[in-house]
Amino acid sequence: MKGYNIYPESKLEKNNKTYSLAQKDLKKYLLSDDPEFGPISELTHANANKLRKLFPHLNPVTCGIKRSFGFGDRLGLATPGHVKTLKGREIFPVFAQQSIREMERTGRSMQDVLDDAMWGVFQAGYRGGYGADIDHVKKEEDVIKACECGYTMFTIDPSDYVNDRAKDIVSIYGKAIEHIIRCYNLIQECVNPEQRRRVDFEASVDETTTPTTPEAHRFIVEKLRKAGVNFTSLALRFIGDFEKGIDYIGDIEVFKEQFLAHAAICREFGGYKLSIHSGSDKFSIYPIISEAAHGVFHIKTAGTNWLEAVRLISHKDPALYRSMHELALRSFEKDRKSYHVTTDLSKVPALDKLSDEKLPGLLNENNARQLMHITYGSILKDMREEIYKTLNLNEDEHYEMLKTHLGRHLSLAGICKKS
Ligand code: ZN
Repeated sequence: MKGYNIYPESKLEKNNKTYSLAQKDLKKYLLSDDPEFGPISELTHANANKLRKLFPHLNPVTCGIKRSFGFGDRLGLATPGHVKTLKGREIFPVFAQQSIREMERTGRSMQDVLDDAMWGVFQAGYRGGYGADIDHVKKEEDVIKACECGYTMFTIDPSDYVNDRAKDIVSIYGKAIEHIIRCYNLIQECVNPEQRRRVDFEASVDETTTPTTPEAHRFIVEKLRKAGVNFTSLALRFIGDFEKGIDYIGDIEVFKEQFLAHAAICREFGGYKLSIHSGSDKFSIYPIISEAAHGVFHIKTAGTNWLEAVRLISHKDPALYRSMHELALRSFEKDRKSYHVTTDLSKVPALDKLSDEKLPGLLNENNARQLMHITYGSILKDMREEIYKTLNLNEDEHYEMLKTHLGRHLSLAGICKKS
């Protein structure tokens, strides 16, 4: 097909028909000789569904209690880069992972997130199985919606029901656990019994103010088990600060001691893994997590992927970066409200004092990282088209940057390349 650049890895065949993904003028298309699609078709949801039926490996699957890693992709462009990151490493990837909060801010639907990951899997020719996590879902109606869309992992956030001011474990977590049980039962009802679709279920109490004590950990596990909740991962609030897009803040020795205690409880009960949220750039504690958890854990990242995209833009289109940065400064106060950050904007170097060459280096400075990390919604709302254009124009470099940066995450977590 003239003018269409086919991604060679994407080529699939079935019943003497061929299917591949191609790009023309920065837009992607499905090329096929199957009359079901026509020679050139757009990447619509209907086409995604038809393709899924033909090629089951394009569908997300459950992971169970193997170790896994969440590559939250806010833009829906990163999956081929994540596939590159995985090469030679043994880890179950969750390519579709977005929280309700992220989707509200990026203007994407649950379905968009699933479809984008699928097209990425198709483009990269990946066949190793991947998960789809509806992250930090709070409302029961959203649980049902995610179920209907085909998500395979459900991360229930009961923080609206956690009573942080209470003194005893029952009063702090009692209502939250009831909510988790309700959501679990809803999912069981929703999943078509004939298909017997299994799900990965995560209970998450990480977005609370008090660190989870070992006693609370035991209490939560016992209550959930007693109610028949077959959860595969548990996200606790660990000691110290897990701020967005920067390394761990706190006493690493204290973290280690606490994490070892939680990991021991997890092994004692068995049947689930610990899940570490806000895992972006927590380089100093990754080796501890890996060792203490005996190599079995789930880690979630999201913002760090977006920051790599921002870094690429600062290289390729400094003017665009400057307008994104200025908008971020204007939106910061409004956007920071639902994020846990201690950003000091006075420490972010003034843009007009920086030459274009210095811009990418800004993304190494914690305050600037957080500034760009949490204002993504406002930035995308205003500059979506330019941002996607720049990233699509430079997609190979985008993938390489993701591979390097996320590869560093995986290596530090002990998920190394086999030589
Ligand atoms: Zn979380």
